[in-house]
Amino acid sequence: MIAKKIRRLAIANRGEVAVRIIRACQELNIESILLHSEVDMQTRAYRLADHRICIGPAPISESYLNIAAQIQGAMASGADAIHPGFGFLSENADFADACEKNGIIFVGPSGKCIRELGDKIYLKKIAQQLKISMVPSYQGEDQSLPQLLQEAEKIGYPVIAKAAAGGGGRGMKLLHSKDEAAELLQSAKTEAQSAFGSSRIFLEKYLDHAKHIEFQIFADSTGKVHHFGDRECSIQRRHQKIIEEALSPSLSIELRKKMSETAVALVQSSGYRGAGTVEFLLQDGKFYLMEMNTRLQVEHPVTENVMGIDLVKAQILTAQNDFILQDSQIRLPQGHSIECRIYAENPYQEGLPSIGRLGKIVFPDGPGRRFEYGFEEGDTITSYYDSMIAKIIVTDENRASAIKRMVETLKGSIIFGVHTNIPYLIEILNHNEFTSGKMTTRFIESYFPKGLPPQKVSEDEKIILAKVAQLVGAAANQQTTSTIASPWHSAWRQFPEHL
Ligand code: ADP
Repeated sequence: MIAKKIRRLAIANRGEVAVRIIRACQELNIESILLHSEVDMQTRAYRLADHRICIGPAPISESYLNIAAQIQGAMASGADAIHPGFGFLSENADFADACEKNGIIFVGPSGKCIRELGDKIYLKKIAQQLKISMVPSYQGEDQSLPQLLQEAEKIGYPVIAKAAAGGGGRGMKLLHSKDEAAELLQSAKTEAQSAFGSSRIFLEKYLDHAKHIEFQIFADSTGKVHHFGDRECSIQRRHQKIIEEALSPSLSIELRKKMSETAVALVQSSGYRGAGTVEFLLQDGKFYLMEMNTRLQVEHPVTENVMGIDLVKAQILTAQNDFILQDSQIRLPQGHSIECRIYAENPYQEGLPSIGRLGKIVFPDGPGRRFEYGFEEGDTITSYYDSMIAKIIVTDENRASAIKRMVETLKGSIIFGVHTNIPYLIEILNHNEFTSGKMTTRFIESYFPKGLPPQKVSEDEKIILAKVAQLVGAAANQQTTSTIASPWHSAWRQFPEHL
């Protein structure tokens, strides 16, 4: 295929990943166009992009998930390519097809590849052909309750029910035994219908002490599939990752080799292009293929840091047919890298999302510290979108020193205006099970099911807090509808919570 230089690239995303893509464009001399919603005009990506086009109102169905609006915006801006980032339309085969139909390069695999590899039924078929283990499951058409109950029995409890159209860890229900199965299956179907527009569910054997291990694969312009090592993402809350690291501390040399070969073989069979991730569950030394994500992952920086590759630039170069990689160019992993996702939420109130205008922000830079953020002082965190506002990534010689570096970096990170999960992350990083590397996907459920306990406030602190609240209260109440809108109200670093 002939290389076609991308000159203008539209970004169908927001937040820190939009900034990440803008940075790659700058280094490749590509003009960036941010396709944004009406409420995203005060964001870092908006300020950094070369051009901006508003594609619709705040609700995602009318902007970020609206294929026609995204295509129209890109066409109006004269973009010759679109990068979908992650989330939103990044794994939407119809979007990739719509780009192609309109002569726009989609930075990612073809619609056909997304459709096939993103489909668990298809994946199961290829896995069977390639003799790759998957957890026992049921993905049948017959969705009647008696059939589902029979299949759950066949799989053996505990069983996890997943919304077939779900994603991002949402829409899952754990069935411990036959007694509760009927009721939970019914509610899983109802919830799947209302959240994803389809009541179809899959059943899977639930692995109750598994680790989440994934492999970063990359298919260059010629279609040759390479891998850039693995990541461990076992620290999850409600099946959503919050801390990720590269490489995993849990793999022997043989297991790593076997899993990476499996991941490459799976993708090689499909005519894939660009970045992708093959996810596995690992339990008792056996690994099971879980799914393939046909896009850039949130946690890609840990791989970039240990493997010395810029995955976003590689994606763009591959999209313009200009990226050929020899295995010999892939270096051995160096050091250890950890990422923490920073969420605007209150760790002392079970992770309740926190919205409001951001006050002063300090990210304490230093060796081996990387900050990926989408919002700055004066920007507003709204309830329209995911509450992840930044990512902090550190890299050091080994895992122990990387953990230490991350704790120190988090301690020095200050975000006024909203609550954040920073204190929660510090507790997790200091936990024995995490430092020993033995954590499973049930870590949070076992040790921090409700976030952090409310902090104790001394009498003296209560007096100080009452005074501060009195001084700024009136102004804060006017600022936004949130009761925690004032930077002072959420200054958890200086003032403990709960008056
Ligand atoms: P999504 O596609 O919604 O992101 P995944 O299928 O990737 O969901 O699963 C997300 C997480 O849910 C996994 O990382 C794992 O922690 C948990 N999970 C999913 N399937 C199973 C299973 N069969 N047994 C145990 N945990 C599971």
